[in-house]
Amino acid sequence: MSKITIVGGGLVGSLLAIFLAKRGHTVSVYERRGDPRKTDIYAGRSINLVVSHRGWTALRAAGVEDAVKQITVPVYARMMHDRDGKLNRVPYSIDNRAIYSVSRGELNRRLLSEAEQLPNVKLHFDHKCVDVDLETATCRFQTNDGEVIGVNADVVFGSDGAFSAVRAKMMLGRFTYSQEYIEHDYKEVAFPANADGTPKMDPQCLHIWPRRYFMMMGLANQDGGFTGTLFMPNTHTENAPGFDTVQTEEQAKKFFAEHFADALPIVPDIVEQYMRNPQSSLAIIRCNPWTVNGKVALIGDAAHAIVPFYGEGMNAGYEDCKVLNDLLNEHGDDNWADSAQRLRQSAQTQR
Ligand SMILES: Cc1cc2nc3c(=O)[nH]c(=O)nc-3n(C[C@H](O)[C@H](O)[C@H](O)COP(=O)(O)OP(=O)(O)OC[C@H]3O[C@@H](n4cnc5c(N)ncnc54)[C@H](O)[C@@H]3O)c2cc1C
Repeated sequence: MSKITIVGGGLVGSLLAIFLAKRGHTVSVYERRGDPRKTDIYAGRSINLVVSHRGWTALRAAGVEDAVKQITVPVYARMMHDRDGKLNRVPYSIDNRAIYSVSRGELNRRLLSEAEQLPNVKLHFDHKCVDVDLETATCRFQTNDGEVIGVNADVVFGSDGAFSAVRAKMMLGRFTYSQEYIEHDYKEVAFPANADGTPKMDPQCLHIWPRRYFMMMGLANQDGGFTGTLFMPNTHTENAPGFDTVQTEEQAKKFFAEHFADALPIVPDIVEQYMRNPQSSLAIIRCNPWTVNGKVALIGDAAHAIVPFYGEGMNAGYEDCKVLNDLLNEHGDDNWADSAQRLRQSAQTQR
């Protein structure tokens, strides 16, 4: 059995730890940020995600489908809100199938707890990967007090997201890479529940306010509230506003009143939230290869970040974990180089 380092304990790293530990490997996860179960690292950035069929297939294979289902809300349709507040419900499926809304923070906390229950998983928070030796699978991590420690393993997985430190090291070799920022950025908006905890909108719908060049959407939480996201170009054009032209409280008031009037009674503090919450960017990342020396591999967004509009980034990352697990089932756990090569072929076939 192998000693494995996972860099990044986000959505994909935590599921990967479960898969690999259940195979009997000794797994250490190193996460740059603090433990999300102890501090609210997601404040103002806790977007909701949808888990779709490929995500569930992987979660089931890892034995955590039920644990995750408990924190989700099924979503059967899109609810389109037009400019006049008229609603149009568009089901996702003719046979009443659903996708499932989940809070990023809740999902991350749940999977970390599931991973931590396994005796051969150790989680290390506040450990930022600052270097990886690709020949020896040795990572260097900086802790909060500035100390740098070296950790040697048989295999390193970089599940450290779109701006991966592991990938940055791989880029120094023969490596093909592209990073494309799209024009749209996003901000979180939290939609509260009614005082008695009931939802203000149909919780089994993904609510969308499409406005051609920008949009807002909201996905239900289990507490009756919704987590909304406003997507808008960073820079305005002659056709559309941008975050750069909605800067002051006055501009934000006018913007929401003009474009999202029916959301105002539902989110009375929408302007305050807009002014307070951070603006984040969206990038598409493609790279090749995903593995090097049979010792270091990229997985999840570190290997292939995509824009959120298809709701597939995390689901694809979960599928990576399952494909890897299937390959290990087929070829054994002692031949990482061979599995890495096959993972590469499988990725090329998926493209
Ligand atoms: C607005 C929005 C909506 C989305 N909606 C959906 C959706 O509905 N469905 C879907 O499938 N996907 C969705 N996605 C995509 C999804 O969020 C990502 O695909 C997913 O989070 C990728 O998981 P990951 O673990 O690979 O990366 P991340 O979730 O980014 O996790 C990476 C982890 O690595 C840590 N890390 C980073 N650098 C280091 C370092 N140097 N050392 C140690 N640790 C490090 C980070 O702190 C983080 O915890 C959405 C994304 C956005 C932005």
